[in-house]
Amino acid sequence: MRGSRAAGATTTRCPSCGTHLITQWVGRVAALHARCDAAPIGPEHEQLLRTPDRLTWCLVTGRWREPELRWRCPSRQCTHDVVIEHHCRQPAPPSTLF
Ligand SMILES: [Zn+2]
Ligand SMILES: [Zn+2]
Repeated sequence: MRGSRAAGATTTRCPSCGTHLITQWVGRVAALHARCDAAPIGPEHEQLLRTPDRLTWCLVTGRWREPELRWRCPSRQCTHDVVIEHHCRQPAPPSTLF
């Protein structure tokens, strides 16, 4: 694979709370910038936490590939890790810049 279009997910940290995040543009035509907690959640958490404004994504990983976020599989047989959009618990991001 060549070219500048990196398809994989990028790991970063939330500037406000320091949580590890996974970010990636998901989709080819109308891409959405997903910004998720890096820690996968279980199905029961997904049911509790997911809202129309807070999407969950499949995290496709493998030994020989870069992690990649995908639209949630419609199938309940999906065996991917599931991550959810990061909603920051910090009320206001600190403006301190180092
Ligand atoms: Zn899946
Ligand atoms: Zn945060």
